[in-house]
Amino acid sequence: MRIGIPKGLLYYRYHAFFETFFSELGSEIIVSEQTNKDILDMGVQFCVDEACLPVKVFHGHAASIKDRCDYLIIPRIMSICKKEYICPKFCGLPEMIIHSIPSVPKVSVDPLYMRNDKELFKWCLSAGSAVTRDSAAIKKAFVSAKKAQKKSRTGIIEPGRRLTVMLAGHPYVVNDDYLNMGIFNKLRAKGIGIITEEFVSDGETREEVKRLVKKPFWTFQRRIFGAACVLIKKNLINGIIYLSSFACGIDSVIIDLIRHFVGDFPMLVIKLDEHTGEAGVDTRVEAFIDMLERRVLNENYNPSPRECVLSGQNPV
Ligand code: SF4
Repeated sequence: MRIGIPKGLLYYRYHAFFETFFSELGSEIIVSEQTNKDILDMGVQFCVDEACLPVKVFHGHAASIKDRCDYLIIPRIMSICKKEYICPKFCGLPEMIIHSIPSVPKVSVDPLYMRNDKELFKWCLSAGSAVTRDSAAIKKAFVSAKKAQKKSRTGIIEPGRRLTVMLAGHPYVVNDDYLNMGIFNKLRAKGIGIITEEFVSDGETREEVKRLVKKPFWTFQRRIFGAACVLIKKNLINGIIYLSSFACGIDSVIIDLIRHFVGDFPMLVIKLDEHTGEAGVDTRVEAFIDMLERRVLNENYNPSPRECVLSGQNPV
């Protein structure tokens, strides 16, 4: 059995789990290539126009491997934390793929709740049954997959020479070198330190969102907003670069929340879609870094919103 795993969306967070689970069951794993222009073009060709960039790119990944596998893993991830959810686009992902791309092989369609072992195992039993009917083997593969996932890590933390920025956004945009336009290397070349939300603990982000009027509904809303506030409060960053997907409703909420609570703390928002050009991104990143250097190093700028974040007051 050849299992196809598209390298898009939450692959970046959970690839260790999926790959280990199916390879432990004796399957051959076919993972799509790193995102590139061909994959993006295929995604744009097959996906509906209204979808966000990461969903379009996911279509491209699925299309690129569909003829080389017998079973395609399209995780319908619903929730990864108790009482929180993932974007609704994930709920309809298997149907989008089945109806948009011609001649797809069998696809995993069961909803995937990753918030506890019991629910996760339920998905494994169903998806694993495509490979074997031996439930003991599925259980064993599940245990190994969990161990592999525990050891895997996404995100980046790198010290810089003088300045550090938080690279914010959904993990499948921030960690995809094609979608993020190679921003890690651009910042490294300028000696800028980088930190992503993965390096702020879940507990700290939960504390931060307590002052919101309404508890966050989406896990990444809590994680990214909470992490930004914690990093500012601890004085660990000089600015935020937010990589946002055009037409992403969740990004709009997170960006507005961050702006609302941190006032004029430096934040650059880069909207990405299939037409975004690298030269335009380079110019904006360079201008942002110049501005940070001027304000933080030359003008001894101390961002006052830090006090607002500290006190939990609204600076607006
Ligand atoms: S959260 Fe935003 S970027 Fe992610 S799949 Fe949903 S709409 Fe797309």
